[in-house]
Amino acid sequence: MKVPFVDLKAQHAAIRNQVDSAIASVIGDTAFVGGKYVDEFEKNYASYCGTKYAVGVSSGTSALQLALLAMGVGPGDEVITAANTFIATAEAISHTGATPVFVDMDPVTFNIDVAGIEKAITDKTKVIIPVHLYGQPADMDPILEIAAKHSLLVLEDAAQAQGARYKGKRCGCFGQAAAFSFYPAKNLGAYGDAGAIVTDDAAYVETIRLYMNHGRRSAHDHAVIGFNERLDGLQGAILNAKLGALDEWNKMRRDAAGRYNDLLAGLNVQTPKAGADVEHIYHLYVVRVRDRDAVRSALGEKDVASGIHYPVPVHLLDAYKGLGLGKGSFPVTEQAAGDILTLPMFPHISAEQQQYVAECLAEIVGKKG
Ligand SMILES: *Cc1c(COP(=O)(O)O)cnc(C)c1O
Repeated sequence: MKVPFVDLKAQHAAIRNQVDSAIASVIGDTAFVGGKYVDEFEKNYASYCGTKYAVGVSSGTSALQLALLAMGVGPGDEVITAANTFIATAEAISHTGATPVFVDMDPVTFNIDVAGIEKAITDKTKVIIPVHLYGQPADMDPILEIAAKHSLLVLEDAAQAQGARYKGKRCGCFGQAAAFSFYPAKNLGAYGDAGAIVTDDAAYVETIRLYMNHGRRSAHDHAVIGFNERLDGLQGAILNAKLGALDEWNKMRRDAAGRYNDLLAGLNVQTPKAGADVEHIYHLYVVRVRDRDAVRSALGEKDVASGIHYPVPVHLLDAYKGLGLGKGSFPVTEQAAGDILTLPMFPHISAEQQQYVAECLAEIVGKKG
């Protein structure tokens, strides 16, 4: 048997007709950039998240960057975020001219260690970006409390958490704004790059729409030096066609995670833990194992694909050498980087495929005890 890391073909087959007719409509209307299909998706996505507004943009990275611009972040400011995240979170901060300030991760949930946030706050801090990593919501109540106490803004990096819930409410409605990625492999994936910002703040929406469209106020009137970070009509229409199935697909991922938890219970691997009060949607199913690299290549030999999210923490990447943060700066994140392993996870993964992954792992790592 062969188990791919992600297989989106079954998902596409389930919605082929809706997607085909969505694409045909966009082409028929030549609504290629922005337009009514994007407007419709924005309305539906805001209502799905429980926010007043959504703005479709070109990627999750541009969503983060535009939201930070709307929050007034710029040179001289500091933005606190998780050490254990994808580089895009830090890139968005850096491209505003601000400096990313990392906080180590909680060893159980892999999300930002809330106790570390307050220690990282200086008089330059403007925003906290909690990342709902792997599809598990960060512990938002204490984060919002710290933010309120220090008059900071909160931008959720919800790129991996479309539809995930914290205390019954969807990710995206906790901070002043939230950024989503619809990269094809994300829980809600476009057929290309796409992203969105959700917020209740009309002034943010106005600033974001200005910056994402060349700073354009009207035809030839450009108020600021902006960007081209608009959402395609095709992506808007496809996202609209897929949104209705998101909850079902997230449930399929949660069921698959439950099956993995049972199958792997007796083995020498540490399975993921969901915090209290959260509905984890398992964008990624991440375990911890000894001799990770050897386990990973042995799995590969048995045709089981796997990943590492992320093998080198952002502060140790060449791109972020300039921050001067050496090894030992964030020990919990650095240790995890050495032993985390992401197993195949997608809504349509079959029980047989998971059974095979577990059998292979049992052979490689053995039983507990
Ligand atoms: C995917 C991702 C992003 C970036 O999204 P793109 O659409 O790829 O630009 C940002 N943050 C996190 C945590 C992500 O997983």
